[in-house]
Amino acid sequence: MNIPAIVWLMLGTILSVFSYYLGKDFILFFYSGIIIIALGIFKITLQYIFSEKASKTEKQKISQQEHYTSCRHCNNIVRKIDYYCSMCGKQLR
Ligand SMILES: [Zn+2]
Repeated sequence: MNIPAIVWLMLGTILSVFSYYLGKDFILFFYSGIIIIALGIFKITLQYIFSEKASKTEKQKISQQEHYTSCRHCNNIVRKIDYYCSMCGKQLR
């Protein structure tokens, strides 16, 4: 089950605000509301960290594909700006 973090935040806020107005008997609901809010914030933080990492590796992959190619003669990985292969010494372009 994957509940969006914003739902957690909204639920927690509603729960704690309502129980706050309802009085002392609902103090437990107030605290559980706070916990739900904390969980929502935690989820958002985790998602942020993971999306940052994912986009970084994606970018690295793309830039590697842009700058590198393989040699026609020996399949060695060579830079696109190179004229000669560093492995077999044959002309690339
Ligand atoms: Zn080569």
